[in-house]
Amino acid sequence: MGRRWGSIAICFLCFFLSGCDLIAPTQSEAREEHLLIDPGHGGADGGTQAQDGTLEKNINLAVATDLRDMMVVCGFAVKMTRESDRSIHDLSDTSIRSKKVSDMRNRLALYQQADAVISLHQNHFSAAKYNGSQVFYSANHEDSVRLARHIQHTIVAQIQPQNTREIKAATDGIYLLYHTTRPAVLVECGFLSNPTERELLNQPAYRQKLAFAITGGYWNYILEE
Ligand SMILES: [Zn+2]
Repeated sequence: MGRRWGSIAICFLCFFLSGCDLIAPTQSEAREEHLLIDPGHGGADGGTQAQDGTLEKNINLAVATDLRDMMVVCGFAVKMTRESDRSIHDLSDTSIRSKKVSDMRNRLALYQQADAVISLHQNHFSAAKYNGSQVFYSANHEDSVRLARHIQHTIVAQIQPQNTREIKAATDGIYLLYHTTRPAVLVECGFLSNPTERELLNQPAYRQKLAFAITGGYWNYILEE
């Protein structure tokens, strides 16, 4: 299963921005309680790209949309960082780099307003054999590891019984998790570099199963409080 490669999350934007000098916003005093779902990348930033042309940003958004719908049915208040194929950079930015910097800054501001954050990404590695979901968590809030553990558990229990990956604390290579102070996790749903898993991730039915498992994990996290 290649668990030792688990920390190799190939999210190019995260690495690109890891050295940027962004300032974390402070948490607002007055905010609505909600779960924030963050489909990674978007717009000009496609994330990782599979050999067959599948773009990470599109899978992220598709899973996020299913997840949002299921969470709403469960009665949770939900917000999303994006609901279409776009980045959320400041309109005044014109260069690719400044757009990426403000996109991340704006996402972090949304993280700081949330009661919990679930970010969705897809993994990629040079060797095609690696597969399986893996959840990363922010080390800045004690609830993050609990949320990560529940989501990893429900994914394995419901759809990936062979998955032996373990949850991991985010390093500074995962910018948003490293800087947010809210309960936050990042779900690497699967490897676009693995043909079998890529085919699954391109199927609506599989994405719904994945979203359902994540929803179940979030439920368990809430019930445990
Ligand atoms: Zn990514």
